[in-house]
Amino acid sequence: MKVARIALDVPIDELFDYICDDAGVRVGSLVVVPFGKRRIVGVAVELASSSKLPRERLRAVERSLPIAALPNSTMALAAFCSRYYRTPLGQVLLSLLPTALRRPGFAPAPPRWEFRLTAPGATIDPDTLPARASAARKLLACLKTQPFVDLHTARAVTGSAGRLLQRWQQDGWVERRAVVAEPERLLPDRMVAPELTAQQSQIVAQVSAGFGRYAAWLLHGVTGSGKTEIYLQLAAIAHARNLQTLVLVPEINLTPQLETRFRERFPGVEVVSLHSGLGEAERLARWTRARSGAAALVLGTRLAVFTPLPRLGLIVIDEEHDASYKQQEGLRYHARDVAIFLARESGVPIVLGSATPSLETTVNARSGRFGLLRLSSRPSAQPPRVRLIETAKHGAQTLAEPVIEQLRARLERKEQSLVFINRRGYAPVLLCSECGWMSQCPRCAARLTLHLGDGFLRCHYCGHQEKIATACPDCGNQDLRGIGQGTQRVEQALAAQLPGARILRVDSDTTRRKDSFLAMDRRIRGREVDVLVGTQMLAKGHHYPQLTLVVVLGADFGLFSSDFRAAERLFQQLMQVAGRAGRAESPGEVLVQTQFPAHPLYQALLHHDFDAFAEVILAERMRARFPPFVYQAVLRAEAVKEAAVFSFLRRAGREAASLASGMTVYEPVPAPMARLAGRYRGQLLVQSPKRVTLQRFLAQWHPRLKPGTSNAVRWALDVDPIEL
Ligand code: ADP
Ligand code: ZN
Ligand code: ZN
Repeated sequence: MKVARIALDVPIDELFDYICDDAGVRVGSLVVVPFGKRRIVGVAVELASSSKLPRERLRAVERSLPIAALPNSTMALAAFCSRYYRTPLGQVLLSLLPTALRRPGFAPAPPRWEFRLTAPGATIDPDTLPARASAARKLLACLKTQPFVDLHTARAVTGSAGRLLQRWQQDGWVERRAVVAEPERLLPDRMVAPELTAQQSQIVAQVSAGFGRYAAWLLHGVTGSGKTEIYLQLAAIAHARNLQTLVLVPEINLTPQLETRFRERFPGVEVVSLHSGLGEAERLARWTRARSGAAALVLGTRLAVFTPLPRLGLIVIDEEHDASYKQQEGLRYHARDVAIFLARESGVPIVLGSATPSLETTVNARSGRFGLLRLSSRPSAQPPRVRLIETAKHGAQTLAEPVIEQLRARLERKEQSLVFINRRGYAPVLLCSECGWMSQCPRCAARLTLHLGDGFLRCHYCGHQEKIATACPDCGNQDLRGIGQGTQRVEQALAAQLPGARILRVDSDTTRRKDSFLAMDRRIRGREVDVLVGTQMLAKGHHYPQLTLVVVLGADFGLFSSDFRAAERLFQQLMQVAGRAGRAESPGEVLVQTQFPAHPLYQALLHHDFDAFAEVILAERMRARFPPFVYQAVLRAEAVKEAAVFSFLRRAGREAASLASGMTVYEPVPAPMARLAGRYRGQLLVQSPKRVTLQRFLAQWHPRLKPGTSNAVRWALDVDPIEL
């Protein structure tokens, strides 16, 4: 009897035995099996010749999906994630596959063909065809005008295109190839490789000398210092040695720009990008190109770290500090950490690039676990000048006078400005001037955010929305005001102060539609915009050469947050957004409106001094015993009844205390968002100064976490949480 132990996407941390007497099922094979009344896809993890279950209770594997088995390296990566993040192996394996492969009915899509004339075919003159063969004449003429014609286009020319093309292929007039979808192109950045600076070449030499062995490098350099150029050159060396390069970027909107840059540098080399914005079929097609080794360069967002790459030779994590590398639901992995494991397993170098490395990585570089590579200067631009604009403690208007002056000056010089609004933990709300009532979400512990554009109040957590009230529900007062600087309010203030300026607001409201970001990007590059107003989304790696002024509003809100990571994030964000200014010939300027110009964070920013900032924050973290000096896991629970949440957490806490050795177990507390979409939320933090201690503890604790008699509590364990 041949038995396959199959991992399934079910919340049970076990493998399931199935009979698989027909050959063909291997470790890593994707198989369809019956499960209860359903048929589902699973992954064969082990093969055996017997089972603990009697034969008559075993069901059989129905079929293998017509796709190659997952390689051992992917199986090992999944096993690591399952162990480390305390998630059943089946859930890990299935969540890293393209969705198309999770369907029991999966069949590979037939390729879409496109056709062109062969050399003999090209010599045929349509006019020499018989006059009555008008369809053939038209199709031949069409083939002559274009390098390739796909079947869809051909059918539009004539209904008998399919038959004609088939005959012409037999006759040797026409040949075909499978269509490879080309992503939309942005304007070219730079076609030819610039000559590297001495610093850059030394870095490239150092990293490439270690190809073929594991090494982790922190590449620390401000925005515009030439990090991407280093990635490109390293990828070129890898490609010359027939090795694949995996490049991770934090955000889907960043992939097209980077993709263009790679494509232009590597003409004729297959580059694929993988991100969540792709359709199911397209994602599978690209994944398959990467998995087969055909694609030499694979760019992608966090999930791309799981793409099987048979010739992997180099991993690059751009903006390694970025919070979006951490998945916040399901398998709560951190793509950077998974990538480091992958690099070690595969024996390849990994380069972590950032202007503001995470403190975790900073500590690793200081201790020598990671090699440190520094880029000190910008090859093609001056660093931006930072100025702190002190605003009055009370009653400050949206935009301070010196800021308006500078905006006007850019407008006159026809340069672009960016007004960046730090909105983390902060959004405009509706306030009653009489009794102090504020617009509150009925289902969450959150304030409703004012959306002036369409007259709605919205909850940014659960999506609840209602019309803006005209009178206070508590006291009836009709003088309700919006307070806070939402993007729309700032946009209005700008329009009033800068008549005639072309203002573009970029936030999640205006870019929700697919492709709208690309359209905006094109308008900005086409210089159809004078002032950009936006949030987080604008801070990241876009390069707009005409942008010479960055104004930062609301930064102070990041200084005094309850989240100990808020200051680190604020600094990262400010450094990054400052990097948007003056990347080309024109020097840039950054104005930060603040009530606290003496704060060490702003002082470090003023001098572009990451090290000074890291020094201050690391000392604080060390004193308070926060990461990176301890390793944490947080148990999150939620339920409709508050008592259910806390009795679950208290029981978990008692279990933890009975096991704990070298662990600190804290008391259960309400989550920062104590109520979300009508459910109460609480959490319990455990930590240890040693990662192995934490891991050993979790392995014992996790299996004992049972929601008790009622199933009403939903819970999840978050290992290495980045938000508490
Ligand atoms: P980063 O990734 O650190 O933001 P980039 O690699 O994108 O920096 O470089 C910023 C700009 O400087 C780009 O326009 C790039 O083409 C240019 N650049 C980078 N290295 C060099 C160099 N050695 N010589 C000339 N220009 C360079
Ligand atoms: Zn009121
Ligand atoms: Zn809500």
